[in-house]
Amino acid sequence: MKEVKIEKCPFCGGEELIETRVASYGGAYLAPVTKGGLRSAVLFATVCRDCGSVVRTYCKEPEKLFPKKERRDC
Ligand SMILES: [Zn+2]
Repeated sequence: MKEVKIEKCPFCGGEELIETRVASYGGAYLAPVTKGGLRSAVLFATVCRDCGSVVRTYCKEPEKLFPKKERRDC
């Protein structure tokens, strides 16, 4: 997985970006739409402390969720 560095909020220019875990009761998950696929990943989000914008939403281990050999165009 590539490292992504976000230095500034693209919306307000704020520099205080906070890593958060996206969760609701029971959890929020990203799950690929595949036949019988039961893999899922917890979502994380980077939130700007100044304006509250969610700058980035991501899962930590995309390789596990979408193995390369199974990847196909939608
Ligand atoms: Zn901002």
